[in-house]
Amino acid sequence: MIKSIKGFNDILHIETANSRPSSEWRRLELQLQGVLDQFGYEQVRLPLVEETQLFARGIGEATDIVEKEMFGFTDKSDPPTPISLRPEGTAGAVRAVIEHNLLRGDHPKLWYIGPMFRYEQPQKGRYRQFHQFGVEAFGSDMADVEAELIAMTSTIWQRLGIDHELTLQINSLGESDERLAYRTALVGYLEAHKTALDSDSLRRLSTNPLRILDSKDAATQALLQDAPRLADFLGADSQAHFAQLQRYLDELGIKYEINPKLVRGLDYYNKTVFEWVTDKLGAQATVCAGGRYDGLIGLLKSAGQTPADKAKPVTSAPAAGFAIGLERLLLLIQLLNPMLALPACEVFVVAHPDVYAEGLHYAQSLRGARVDLRVKMASATSMKTQMKKADKSGAKITVILAQDEIDTQQISVKMMETGAQSRHDKTWLHHSDNFAL
Ligand code: ATP
Ligand code: MG
Repeated sequence: MIKSIKGFNDILHIETANSRPSSEWRRLELQLQGVLDQFGYEQVRLPLVEETQLFARGIGEATDIVEKEMFGFTDKSDPPTPISLRPEGTAGAVRAVIEHNLLRGDHPKLWYIGPMFRYEQPQKGRYRQFHQFGVEAFGSDMADVEAELIAMTSTIWQRLGIDHELTLQINSLGESDERLAYRTALVGYLEAHKTALDSDSLRRLSTNPLRILDSKDAATQALLQDAPRLADFLGADSQAHFAQLQRYLDELGIKYEINPKLVRGLDYYNKTVFEWVTDKLGAQATVCAGGRYDGLIGLLKSAGQTPADKAKPVTSAPAAGFAIGLERLLLLIQLLNPMLALPACEVFVVAHPDVYAEGLHYAQSLRGARVDLRVKMASATSMKTQMKKADKSGAKITVILAQDEIDTQQISVKMMETGAQSRHDKTWLHHSDNFAL
């Protein structure tokens, strides 16, 4: 038997080992879209594959994603172009903003939802195809952008009834020159204590030393206690920006923790980074992550320059965003505030095989009159078999049609909860005051 690929899950109408049922996905998506509409953000739908170069340049060569988590292949062009399934949404969104010149005279505020792909070891809350809901706000370098994004996420948790189990962590990564100075100091300190480092951190010492800060290794963490602190390397502008964000959050009543070791795994961030974390999902603690990335637009613009363009100065534009992992969010909702199961339908129509055509017609007319009702039927088998299906369907009402009902232009209505049955005019259900949801 041919099975699905490891780490790639079916989202079905029923719960499976690796996914909540599709009805929960739909309800969550509607909630998220509702909040984004309220903040005046607009949706974009971007390709699932991009040139590998976009991610390598954008996310950074020495990041976990680019080093080991990309699904890449080459296309059939000559010479073949390396392309990859997108591991995240920001690089593609930035590419689209540049390609379509969206920043000309505008500050686009965009969101997207869809699958992302990373070659990781699958476990609960970590898959090879997973889904992100992402938001990107372009064009402003001021801290109100991060405050708005964080307020938006906080609203989402409240609407979902899970705000009490999520903690906001924030940090400032400063600007690249500040990080560079810090990097030198950190490497200097760690070089002197090399023997105490775990093997992963030892490798990162030359490739991506800041990532050592979020190492899970206890000995490395102990060593970091006395290491130089990034906060001490921030310039006045970075400090003021971070202080302003904290003032906005205080004003909004949004609680936060400053986590000086929060560095995030992607190279493009500067100044603010933030995560919403929970202790309810084991190692998969981060439900939402984001930050500011003022240099990415300039970086990707210059990555696409031909030698002839090189003389023109490249201008960047500020931006900030976040992404929520939907599988983790659904797991958390299930733990903390499970969604009530929706009935599969409101009305089930059972029609005797002799008058089945009239039954079909009735169901159609009811759907036409009542767009709020879900109306189901079974095939034209015996009344007994159809009644069994009606019982199993979870419908609130079963409408029964046999020759007698057709002759008298009536319907029999069975209330499924009580079993009470009554006769009515055939348009009785067409009026919402007779059967409200
Ligand atoms: P982690 O530290 O858990 O690997 P990350 O830092 O790689 O997360 P981001 O790249 O910031 O995560 O992606 C944003 C969010 O997307 C994460 O917080 C998480 O909720 C979700 N996410 C990331 N990778 C996966 C995955 N393989 N499966 C499911 N969700 C994921
Ligand atoms: Mg990861």
